[in-house]
Amino acid sequence: MIIVKAKYLITNPDNYIENGAVAIKGTKIHHVGTFEEIKALTSVDKIIDLGNAVILPGLINIHTHLDLTNLHNRIKPTSNFTHWVFQILGARIRWKEEDYISSIEKGINLCVESGTTTVADIANTGYSFSVLKKSPLRKVVYKEVIDLNPDHANDVFKRTQTELSSIIPDDLLSIGLSPHAPYSVSRGLYQAIAQFARETGTPVCTHIAETQDEIEFLTKGTESFPTFLRQIRAMPDNWQPPGLTPIHYLNKTGILKNHPLLIHCNYVTDEEISLIKSSGASVAFCPRSHHFFGHANHPVQRLLDARINVGLGTDSLASNDTLSILDEMKFLSLRHSISPKTLLTMATINGAKALGLESKTGQIKEGLQADLCGVGLPGAHDNNIFNQLLDTTSKNIFTMIAGNICYHAQSG
Ligand SMILES: [Zn+2]
Repeated sequence: MIIVKAKYLITNPDNYIENGAVAIKGTKIHHVGTFEEIKALTSVDKIIDLGNAVILPGLINIHTHLDLTNLHNRIKPTSNFTHWVFQILGARIRWKEEDYISSIEKGINLCVESGTTTVADIANTGYSFSVLKKSPLRKVVYKEVIDLNPDHANDVFKRTQTELSSIIPDDLLSIGLSPHAPYSVSRGLYQAIAQFARETGTPVCTHIAETQDEIEFLTKGTESFPTFLRQIRAMPDNWQPPGLTPIHYLNKTGILKNHPLLIHCNYVTDEEISLIKSSGASVAFCPRSHHFFGHANHPVQRLLDARINVGLGTDSLASNDTLSILDEMKFLSLRHSISPKTLLTMATINGAKALGLESKTGQIKEGLQADLCGVGLPGAHDNNIFNQLLDTTSKNIFTMIAGNICYHAQSG
């Protein structure tokens, strides 16, 4: 049995313990309490003292593209989304297998070092599955599906099914499906994925309501997407706009019945928020990526007020500076009036719920998986633990996933 102790322990956003400790047996949390209580346990093999730090439930990143990690600082900031996609396509044009693999591996390391214990990654290629499967992270890897041509829906769906059947899930790896977005996936393909995913219990996520241009494209067939899609030869000749906003369009495809993870939802009306709420879908909010693209204020407060489950994502390093969920919390705490407790809930419990993992992770509780992190705190100039946690100088120093110590920064 291993004991991890620190000056503070936050077991969930509503409960913190001074001089707290967690006893870990195998992959699970065995006991939680003050160090005084925990040290009385027998058969302790090792005590790890994190010192002036707070032990937290492992952070959960519910949206990223780890295969874009190596594009950090190679993509110019732009508010023009299709221009950004062109830059990505151009930057990757000569990428070989080893480039994808090194990008994903680097992303995994950055996640682990920053206290992320669970990640939801989008697999644009098969490399994401093979590389992430070998990593110590807990992960849901969503196979990305893209094809706007309705005539291809059947073939693409069958090919996707075959690909998925070759991937073996395990204790740390869940497999999901990500029909990319309504401007890149036909209605027929959405419908086929929705039905298959419901029958097989496969988790689903999709990018939705990300830009105003997406709304114009779906409602009227205008703005940047038709030109962009023609340039990349992805615009079907006979394509007609459904005449619906993104959320209403998703509803028509049946995919909202899957309780999907909706990525972004940057532009949604109150009426669409009600529809999201009644569907039971979760939302992935990527604060710094949202800022990178210069979007208008995100409706995060309206989503939270409607009691929709909102978790945090970093998106990729092609539109962000780090893969740290703690950095997302700090960024949000400076710009929104969301309470620190709610920020931590979004980064832990809500993330676990969004990925269907709440029976395994998201809190430090006896019987759950031992997924935790330790954040080194600044000097004791502030007694409020949440203020210390969100201080610009706080930094993750320790990461444990399923009882496995994956990172421990050696300090002086
Ligand atoms: Zn994305």
